[in-house]
Amino acid sequence: MPILIDRLFLLIIPACMLLLGAMLAGCWRVQRRRFHLLWVAASYALVGSALAWQSLMSVEELQRWAVVTGMLYLFGAWSFARGLAGYYDVSARPRLGLLIGAVVLLALYYYSRVEVSLWMRMLWLNAGLGLMQLLPAARILRRQLPAGGLERAMYWSYVVFALNTSIRPILWLAVGSKGQDAAFFSSYWLMMLATTMLFALLFAMLLLANTVRDTMTALRAERNMDPLTNLLNRRAFQEAAGPLLRDPQRGPWTLLIGDIDHFKRINDTWGHAHGDHVLQTVAGALTQQVRGDDLVARFGGEEFVLLLRTDLASAESIAQRIRMQLSENRQLLPDGDRMTISFGIAPITSPTELSATLSRADGLLYQAKQAGRDRVYVARPLNEIQTT
Ligand code: GH3
Ligand code: MG
Ligand code: MG
Repeated sequence: MPILIDRLFLLIIPACMLLLGAMLAGCWRVQRRRFHLLWVAASYALVGSALAWQSLMSVEELQRWAVVTGMLYLFGAWSFARGLAGYYDVSARPRLGLLIGAVVLLALYYYSRVEVSLWMRMLWLNAGLGLMQLLPAARILRRQLPAGGLERAMYWSYVVFALNTSIRPILWLAVGSKGQDAAFFSSYWLMMLATTMLFALLFAMLLLANTVRDTMTALRAERNMDPLTNLLNRRAFQEAAGPLLRDPQRGPWTLLIGDIDHFKRINDTWGHAHGDHVLQTVAGALTQQVRGDDLVARFGGEEFVLLLRTDLASAESIAQRIRMQLSENRQLLPDGDRMTISFGIAPITSPTELSATLSRADGLLYQAKQAGRDRVYVARPLNEIQTT
């Protein structure tokens, strides 16, 4: 009876592995693009099942089922390698994996049917599993590890895990066992379960941390971006402008508001889809003209806001260049019609001036529209002068 309880207790670790596998598979269901999660989940399921099954076996049964359990472990190790290879976007070398698997299974067959030796089976199986796990290791390294700490932590934990798998029977024999007796095998089994569980937990955590981080980054980008033009939206512009304007090392700064002329007519005449295309072209033209620290945003509709790290005069010539480039683009509107844009421009020196400067530039834009559109109005220190 106590023996049975001991064995059931051993099932805790395989059960935890199956649960971790189920959790990773659940993550994959939410983010199906992350296929590597499913491979790692499969490897946890295969290894967890094999460990559970073996925990309940007698020595004779271990021998009888050696090839079948070996197959589960080997495929589990390859699934794990496939998951990591997928994460780093390299091949898991399935053909070489198949070869390793075949050789190890032959050895398992031999040492369970012809010359029975649990020790030799352990050596062959572990060496094979470690090699299987290491299949994509060199290619991942050759591809240059991504710079992130998480990616590096995952790679090196994986290499340590695979090496540990390969040599753990020999290591365990070296560190203090008197010989290959029953005590050795049962202590080895416990050590192997414990390290497997530790690494399984570590990888599940790293993979989850990675998924959460990437999801947050993607959500943040989505929250900040205008989906039609890929420019910043109003909120992101305001968030990004603050730190730039606060930095005394940078500047001078100039704020520009550009608004497409008679855009409603473009939509009405050539359709909303063509209007969208015009918005994207304008966004492209604006982005082309900016550099390093500059910001370009779409505040809504056909209104664009730019924060340029330059003085008023250069900002004005940039706006003129954009205005001319767009109006000379005869491919933009059907029938060779010209598309024009008007600008209001004002200088800005601190983040507290942001909303006042936006109003000021907007007022100038309004004046440019009133004066007939297709022009750039610039704020001057004393009086406001128009240029066309
Ligand atoms: P003005 O020269 O005075 O700026 O006139 P306008 O026609 O450009 O300005 P108005 O504000 O009257 O019209 C803007 C139009 O922009 C109305 C709206 O349907 C259209 N619009 C807003 N957002 C989008 C969009 O995402 N795609 C398209 N195609 N049209 C949009
Ligand atoms: Mg307009
Ligand atoms: Mg408008």
